[in-house]
Amino acid sequence: MLVNALRETAKVALDLVFPARCVNCRAEGTLLCANCLDDAVRLDGPACSRCAAPMKSGSLCQKCAASPRQTGVDRLIAAYKYDGAIREAIHALKYEGLRAVAPQLGGLMAQLPALGGMKLDLAIPVPVHPSRLRSRGYNQSDLLAKEVAARLSLPLDARSLRRVRNSPPQARTPDEQQRARQVEGAFEAMPDRVTGRRALLVDDVATTCSTLNACAGALKAAGAGWVAALVLAREV
Ligand SMILES: [Zn+2]
Ligand SMILES: [Zn+2]
Repeated sequence: MLVNALRETAKVALDLVFPARCVNCRAEGTLLCANCLDDAVRLDGPACSRCAAPMKSGSLCQKCAASPRQTGVDRLIAAYKYDGAIREAIHALKYEGLRAVAPQLGGLMAQLPALGGMKLDLAIPVPVHPSRLRSRGYNQSDLLAKEVAARLSLPLDARSLRRVRNSPPQARTPDEQQRARQVEGAFEAMPDRVTGRRALLVDDVATTCSTLNACAGALKAAGAGWVAALVLAREV
């Protein structure tokens, strides 16, 4: 814990000494510059309302339409394709300790038009297992959810959903069914906090959507009425 705290202090000190540089092109000024953001592929076109897969028309993609019983996420909103500068920014936030980029990324998520008019009761970050929290020092989804909640004037609830079982990092297991098995039963929600509520899950990236669906499943098992998810990036 002390080592983590010292490491964080050193990081903050470095952030103060050196001017901000774009995580992607290294231009001075901001952590993610306007040029790189312009080049990022936005996912605000027609998409499946449940899994955000881009598609030409209709409301559900073929895969979602084929599974009518919905225990996972009811609605997924993704801001960008997981690629280029957005991938660099997520990597910096997640693995390089660049917490300072969270406000900008959270701002990009909160301004998505799809969130307008959506009735929501609370924002919930996708939790990490306590052991990973100890080694990383923070949960990047907490940071993003905090920014999103503040901008949408939603209560932030980082305690109603817990990760009770760790699973290997997503990158090593891209297979969807395998991933779904890995996160099955990995989350638990507290009924007294979520029953009858409409929740917005917040995470950095959706790859197979297995983690988000497992979180939504736990929230619904605890009585949540409806669960949407908001991610900065989606693999498409
Ligand atoms: Zn740039
Ligand atoms: Zn779909």
